[in-house]
Amino acid sequence: MKVFVRTYGCQMNVHDSEKLLGVLTTMGYYPVSSEEEAQLVILNTCAVREKAEHKVYSELGRLKKLKKMGVVIGVCGCVAQKEGKNLLDKMPFVDFVVGPRNIYSLPQVLEEVKLGRRVVKTHLNGSCITSLKMPVRRQDPYRAYVTVMEGCDNFCAYCVVPFTRGREVSRPSIEIVEEVKRLADQGYLEVTLLGQNVNSYGKNLDEGIDFSGLLEKVHEVEGIRWIRFITSHPRDFSEKLIRTVTALPKICEYIHLPAQSGSTTVLERMGRGYTREEYLEKVAMIREYIPEVALTSDFIVGFPGEREKDFQLTLDLVERVRYEGVFAFCYSVRKGTRAAQWEDDVPTSEKGRRLTHLLQLQDRITEEVSRTYQGKVLDVLFYDWKDGMLEGRTRTNKIVSVPGERKHLGTVKKVRIGETRMYQLLGTLAEGGESL
Ligand code: SF4
Repeated sequence: MKVFVRTYGCQMNVHDSEKLLGVLTTMGYYPVSSEEEAQLVILNTCAVREKAEHKVYSELGRLKKLKKMGVVIGVCGCVAQKEGKNLLDKMPFVDFVVGPRNIYSLPQVLEEVKLGRRVVKTHLNGSCITSLKMPVRRQDPYRAYVTVMEGCDNFCAYCVVPFTRGREVSRPSIEIVEEVKRLADQGYLEVTLLGQNVNSYGKNLDEGIDFSGLLEKVHEVEGIRWIRFITSHPRDFSEKLIRTVTALPKICEYIHLPAQSGSTTVLERMGRGYTREEYLEKVAMIREYIPEVALTSDFIVGFPGEREKDFQLTLDLVERVRYEGVFAFCYSVRKGTRAAQWEDDVPTSEKGRRLTHLLQLQDRITEEVSRTYQGKVLDVLFYDWKDGMLEGRTRTNKIVSVPGERKHLGTVKKVRIGETRMYQLLGTLAEGGESL
């Protein structure tokens, strides 16, 4: 049986698709690269913005024709969780709807579908975070995602995540370390520890452990060379954690620190739990401890009540922090959130103007920051090779391409950076590279 999974959204979703495919593989399915070849098609969806959700519905409309050929169609992820049975009502050709915490139930769901039933599984008390018990079919042979916690208790005014992914649940550290050890045994070199808010790790565990403690344990696993983590909440990014990152050499100098806005007034309405000044202080502290750190961020423009002067403060913050890159989006109403009760009072055209302005500013900064890499000799982990070109990433997560042989795949090598582009650095292999 052939399955096609299309993934939308964040790294959590990318990893959930690896779990979906892992479960399906044990049932005899194998993945194919197009829906036309498949007997089972799953959309693993994102509900974080209205546009992403619309995309899912239009994609489902396109898949309708496959139903006539007997293809089973399922929807997983955050739209599945948010819409539940509504989705089955709106889309009569969809066979099942499975929320992010119910991936483990896929075998049972498919059995029911075989019997001609249409199934909804959206319990938020289910857990799909235990990859040790759940097979995972990973996409990359050198870099792996490892879920450490799931869900969010923050309830930012605009965000559906606490409703679609549920409340925070951390995974016991012993399981995480066990999974990382297995990955090291399989030859993985890099792990990215995943969670909606990794800084909250451990809160609901009896272990008396926090995220710094977890990083220390993961750092001890032999064979793993680089450790990354995502996502961090600026309010909870403590000095202790910064010290830990500094003290543990395997932890990469790359931090994604979503600001969302540069205006304290807007941040307060968003319920982010920090002011503009506190955010900038945190950035200054991170830079003091880790001068070579690469910072990236997320921003929302056109949040209800955002005035021009608030937006100018966002531009100013971006200019001050000099991120390596940002993800920026226009605000869209998400049903069930606090902000949905407020007037969406920034006109669409104005949101678009602000977004373009912000992205243009960031493009200039990204290009300038990229240029500072010129002439540097950096460690690069190579994970792809095509037509004589190796592709890898620096510890700061910059993409690097160099001419080189395939044998360097899965190694960390020193690279001398030559030409720089906005999102890519070009270079040559340098002396002193360390083959693994
Ligand atoms: S911290 Fe806020 S934005 Fe991030 S997932 Fe939680 S509620 Fe959403």
